[in-house]
Amino acid sequence: MAATAAADHAYAPYSGLRVGAAGLAAGGKVVTGCNVENASYGLTLCAECGLVSALHASGAGASPAAGAQGPPALLAVAVVAGDGEPLLPCGRCRQLLLEAGGGDLLVDTADGPVELKVLLPAAFTGTDLASRRENRENRENRENRENRENR
Ligand SMILES: [Zn+2]
Repeated sequence: MAATAAADHAYAPYSGLRVGAAGLAAGGKVVTGCNVENASYGLTLCAECGLVSALHASGAGASPAAGAQGPPALLAVAVVAGDGEPLLPCGRCRQLLLEAGGGDLLVDTADGPVELKVLLPAAFTGTDLASRRENRENRENRENRENRENR
């Protein structure tokens, strides 16, 4: 219902596909978003982008202190076209929603709710960044170790 109402406000003069998204935040708030197209096409914002922005702007998103490692702020999301029928989030938005709701986030589909981890298996997350980030000290240690091994 909220997603369909959001779709009514979409700005989609180019594709003609109005999209609305509504999400239930952990604190009980419902946040919404709609797609906003642009003449450049590439700058078009999906409805889920607006939803995640609204999640944070409303204060229902993860606290800055908790960051990406904090508890998921989003519990469930519905994305619909202007006709009210479900649409699945695009790949970019699945990644965006993952950080807002985690793999257990329920995404409404034509066949009922599906966990996001099913729609986005083997996802890249903030954990990958933390565990693989290479800082100067690590790089120097690795280079020294490789130099010793090559002697
Ligand atoms: Zn998208």
